[in-house]
Amino acid sequence: TIKELVDRLAKHRILDREEFCFLIDHMSKDGATYLYEKARNEALNSYGNRIFVRGLMEFTNYCKNDCYYCGIRRSNPKAARYRLTPDQIMDCCRIGYGLGLRTFVLQGGEDPWFTDEKIAYLVESIKKSYPDCAVTLSVGEKDLHTYKRWFDAGADRYLLRHETANPCHYASLHPPQMSSEHRKECLRNLKAIGYQTGCGIMVGAPYQTTEHIAEDLEFMYGLQPEMVGIGPFIPHHDTPFKDRPAGTLRQTLLLLAIVRLMLPSVLLPATTALGTIEENGREQGVMAGANVVMPNLSPVDVRKKYMLYDNKISTGVEAATNINELKKRMKAIGYEVVTDRGDYKKP
Ligand code: SAM
Repeated sequence: TIKELVDRLAKHRILDREEFCFLIDHMSKDGATYLYEKARNEALNSYGNRIFVRGLMEFTNYCKNDCYYCGIRRSNPKAARYRLTPDQIMDCCRIGYGLGLRTFVLQGGEDPWFTDEKIAYLVESIKKSYPDCAVTLSVGEKDLHTYKRWFDAGADRYLLRHETANPCHYASLHPPQMSSEHRKECLRNLKAIGYQTGCGIMVGAPYQTTEHIAEDLEFMYGLQPEMVGIGPFIPHHDTPFKDRPAGTLRQTLLLLAIVRLMLPSVLLPATTALGTIEENGREQGVMAGANVVMPNLSPVDVRKKYMLYDNKISTGVEAATNINELKKRMKAIGYEVVTDRGDYKKP
């Protein structure tokens, strides 16, 4: 029955909620092997054995939000706050370009110091200096007008995990000022403007049930995002969820594979969080259908300060400067890290 469900998902791209729940709750070892192989082949069909790399710049850890799970939440007084200057950001791009990166991701907390205008200026500067590169923004919830302004400034992609599609579950992870409906509206706006848009979830987030995950999958299918970010939840010692267990490698791999079968040409990163819970987590992610890795381009001294969760890896193979090690590791499992913008390819 598991194999039949996997086949059905691969054929119709969607299952109903009960079937998704069954697939997740009753997955056997053989079933998982079968699922990963199918997902891997789907990625090979869409993108070949090519792994796209993105230079991640964590440019500010100031945040006005207070998400209960996040280490850089507003109410964590122990977080040592920093902002990169435009010069530092352009330096990161220069280094990244030299390393073969052709997508730059500006990710940060929701930091009002970086006004719409400043972000637009950063996007314009990067696009002007590196016209052959894509710029991805990941700076949270803004109104349609702001998203449009940044798109017009040259931003190509936007990452905004929806975190959970279920409003009650959303409310158990965020203070009342934030809502699942608003986050979803942002995602629909981003799509409508023309961004390659990424939603996503943390696997094993506190209070998450299999039904919630099935709802997330349904939401993703409806949105048809170009990117999906899926990584395990990992507790941070200075947050209300400090004693919660982390999401597991197995559950994350399972979801990566299901998403790959549901959205065959989605850009799907093997995340830093996956590499944090397991030394070769990202290789395993690729073997389950992921096709993107996001090496860290932030200056070394700030990497430790962008601590969303405990033990976040920052100086090993995930550092952009160690891209040769990443290339070797990907080669060892039959994949090639390429110098390419790595845009979404319509199926
Ligand atoms: N502020 C932007 C936003 O809200 O999208 C981007 C930065 S935010 C820190 C990026 C992502 O980090 C979130 O969408 C969340 O899924 C993830 N994250 C935060 N805390 C985490 C944790 N404890 N474990 C795993 N992922 C976490």
